[in-house]
Amino acid sequence: MTEQNPVNTENAKPVKALPDAQIVTSVTHWTDTLFSFRVTRPKSLRFRSGEFVMIGLLKDDGRPLLRAYSIASPSWDEELEFYSIKVQDGPLTSRLQHLKVGDELILRPKPVGTLVHDALTPGKRLWFFATGTGFAPFASLLRDPETYERFDQVIVTHTCRDVAELEYGRQLVENLADDPLIGEFIGNKLTYYPTTTREESPKMGRITTLLSDGTVFNDLGIETITADTDRAMVCGSMGLNNDIKEILEGFGLREGANSDPAEYVVEKAFVG
Ligand SMILES: Cc1cc2nc3c(=O)[nH]c(=O)nc-3n(C[C@H](O)[C@H](O)[C@H](O)COP(=O)(O)OP(=O)(O)OC[C@H]3O[C@@H](n4cnc5c(N)ncnc54)[C@H](O)[C@@H]3O)c2cc1C
Repeated sequence: MTEQNPVNTENAKPVKALPDAQIVTSVTHWTDTLFSFRVTRPKSLRFRSGEFVMIGLLKDDGRPLLRAYSIASPSWDEELEFYSIKVQDGPLTSRLQHLKVGDELILRPKPVGTLVHDALTPGKRLWFFATGTGFAPFASLLRDPETYERFDQVIVTHTCRDVAELEYGRQLVENLADDPLIGEFIGNKLTYYPTTTREESPKMGRITTLLSDGTVFNDLGIETITADTDRAMVCGSMGLNNDIKEILEGFGLREGANSDPAEYVVEKAFVG
């Protein structure tokens, strides 16, 4: 009887693919702290544009390290896109930022979230308020024809410290008009309103300040926000979310949920 040599790799079985593993198909680095990537989509995964899932990598001990991520691609896309921060000492993103085409990513196919059309009652004008990577769920919703079927006007505001941090969103919005699939749904319904808080740019300031002092309304030729006409989705830090909530409530809008649709919905872009 011969013993099998456990380190003999000649007869080794192929390594079993990770459970829920998807394959990275492209990676784009936007700045030192921001990148986006696309992965294969599990055939069985259904989600509503704007929802998030848990994604991650295996730790050295073989257990998965997962974090919540908004799906940045629309529900009709055959791949999944994510838009990510790089936190240098972050448990996940210190490694995730080194993803390469062909790598495996763990993805738990259980999408959830409140930034969905189902959580809003019908209206005429839809606002997306994003800061930083909070743009991700709107990258999905902006590419979903339902957004333009439901609303006459769609306004997306994106606030970052520096101009380069706006680039992922800017390119996405710019390319939408020529998109063969959804360009015709958009027509002239979409308005993009980027602002920076640190680097000099054509429009500077926190979106909360620009809303409170009426600058946004002056710039866009809109009288005000009302509960009759306006709906809003908000995705940023806890501080930003709370400040915009207060402003929207001041205009008479009420917070909605999947189980109880109303005039606006909010989701954290990250915890902390
Ligand atoms: C519902 C939900 C959706 C999310 N969607 C995304 C997404 O689409 N893209 C994304 O990059 N992150 C998203 N996040 C944050 C994400 O889950 C992780 O926190 C992030 O990937 C960093 O992971 P980490 O393990 O490296 O560091 P963590 O230990 O998770 O975070 C370390 C610190 O970094 C800061 N931080 C974390 N994430 C961000 C961020 N996105 N922007 C600015 N500062 C941050 C916080 O101060 C945090 O305390 C989401 C979080 C939630 C709750």
